[in-house]
Amino acid sequence: KITVSIITIGDELLIGQTIDTNSAWMAQQLNGMGIWVHRRVAIGDVREDILSTLAEEAALSDVVLMTGGLGPTADDITKPTLCEYFQTRLVQDRETLQRVLYMFESRGLPILQRNVDQSLVPEAATVIPNERGTAPGMWFEKDGKIYVSMPGVPHEMKGIMENYVLPRLEMHFSTPAVVHHTLITSGMGESFVAERLVDFEAKLPPHIKLAYLPSYSLLKLRLTAHGKDKLSTATELSMYFTELKERLADIVVIDQDISMGEVLGRILLARNRTVGTAESCTGGLIGSWITAISGSSSYYKGGAITYSNEMKMKMLGVKKETLAAHGAVSEETVREMLAGALDLLEVDYAMAISGIMGPTGGSEEKPVGTVWIAVGSQEKTVTIKYTLRYDRERNTQMAAVYAMNELRKL
Ligand code: ATP
Ligand code: MG
Repeated sequence: KITVSIITIGDELLIGQTIDTNSAWMAQQLNGMGIWVHRRVAIGDVREDILSTLAEEAALSDVVLMTGGLGPTADDITKPTLCEYFQTRLVQDRETLQRVLYMFESRGLPILQRNVDQSLVPEAATVIPNERGTAPGMWFEKDGKIYVSMPGVPHEMKGIMENYVLPRLEMHFSTPAVVHHTLITSGMGESFVAERLVDFEAKLPPHIKLAYLPSYSLLKLRLTAHGKDKLSTATELSMYFTELKERLADIVVIDQDISMGEVLGRILLARNRTVGTAESCTGGLIGSWITAISGSSSYYKGGAITYSNEMKMKMLGVKKETLAAHGAVSEETVREMLAGALDLLEVDYAMAISGIMGPTGGSEEKPVGTVWIAVGSQEKTVTIKYTLRYDRERNTQMAAVYAMNELRKL
């Protein structure tokens, strides 16, 4: 089994200014190819730390992938440090120089010495062209280990990984197959689902694993099989996946790993129906998730973000008396918001949501986390109340998923 270590370099990672998304993305790609990442290490732009981490990781792994610190500024010291580690020197790479010159020329920018220096690479490296930026990637081999250094900019790193590094690694170590299948369920907590699947899990062969991944108010179940070749592994896995789907038929949302926005989009497209939103506490999040899907214009007409009582009345026609008698977070109010949205937006279906997301506010009768949802059409309306118990951000996301899931069930 080949193993990989990922080192992400940059002071910004250590102070939490930049979240390390590079190593998560890389790990996903490698995992999909059957390559195991067993360490992810973040370090600063510090010479000693780069040197010692390279040595430590190379002792543990077959491949060491690193990102960051290749920029034209003084804080980026990965290149000279790599020269030290591989006992080599910087030389000019003609192709990179031409690329850098061309990039600046075509943008009408003056070229600085520090940009020219981006074409300096350690002599021992195989240069990997960076089609999306100036700093090239570098591939090293030493004592049977592979090292790859890439720029920190996620979009540039991804280009280099996809076009060069992943295909090379695949060639280098003809990797065994890994196949995943994901099922999304709603309405049952993971421990209850696990209880239902005790005998299913007991009969899974050792090379097939079941993972539980709670995701907001939904639960994802991922089956993963490791095997010799893709076809036989996929065939075997699909047998177990079919059984899993059947066993959980009453709680399955969809048998793919897609977002709730996409789930709704597919349903609306298939039924040729339109939808609109009336959002208070989610502030447009539902609309944002729906429009994250390309092609959503054919079923999403729009929404009203009615955060204040005034706007609930003005835009959606919620009655003053309703708000006075029951409050903004109430079944009566979301019913009127829904009716208003159906009329205003002239849609087949709508969702209305109003809640108290916390951490402050609320009352004894309506504690923080209280959310009222109404979904429906001119013919049918469903209302439901939830009491969420997390922080503001998570409560908001859960509320949005709940509302979308209610609409799906219509
Ligand atoms: P370039 O030569 O293109 O400037 P670089 O190798 O010098 O790239 P850095 O200067 O370290 O890269 O980082 C460039 C950008 O990429 C910064 O905005 C940084 O926040 C981001 N970045 C760096 N490392 C990561 C990481 N591990 N995950 C996500 N973003 C990152
Ligand atoms: Mg940096």
